Amino acid sequence: MKWRLRTLHVVAVGDGVPLELRDRVAAALARMFGFACRPASAPIDCAEAFDAARNQYFSTKILERLGSVSSDADSRVLGLTAVDLYVPVLTFVFGEAQMHGRCALVSCHRLREEFYGLPARADLLEERLLKEAIHEIGHTFGLAHCDNWECVMTSSHAVERLDVKTAEFCSECRAVVRAAAA
Ligand SMILES: [Zn+2]
Ligand SMILES: [Zn+2]
Repeated sequence: MKWRLRTLHVVAVGDGVPLELRDRVAAALARMFGFACRPASAPIDCAEAFDAARNQYFSTKILERLGSVSSDADSRVLGLTAVDLYVPVLTFVFGEAQMHGRCALVSCHRLREEFYGLPARADLLEERLLKEAIHEIGHTFGLAHCDNWECVMTSSHAVERLDVKTAEFCSECRAVVRAAAA
């Protein structure tokens, strides 16, 4: 894809996301979107988003914090975390983004095979995290969920669904992102 160059700040939220994984996902996103990628050096603290009763972190609260990473209106901020995320109406979320906004957040927590009692798969974790990151960044460009099951913008609340969709926008979603970035 080719559109106006933006900066993508990739920032760790809390501990537990391997640096190498962060860098690989950032590099893939840079290639896909034509972003200039800036890994942020210091992780963001997410303690204030912790809900002790749920033993999870309120993702909308973390998203608000991410906005402070950069004030550049053309930039995007992607938070990568290993903590389990929720929004009040759902038992969990893989990630969340600000629709037409600048910030997106994705979690590895439920993308790891180990979460389901299976042996670790680094390749699968990276693939899932990348799809989820592209999906959430898509929301920042104003994309809603897509009915095309192969499109990265289809909604997926289970890893099985995540695994069958591709890491690509369908032609209709791609056109929306292009128009938003023009
Ligand atoms: Zn979504
Ligand atoms: Zn689509």
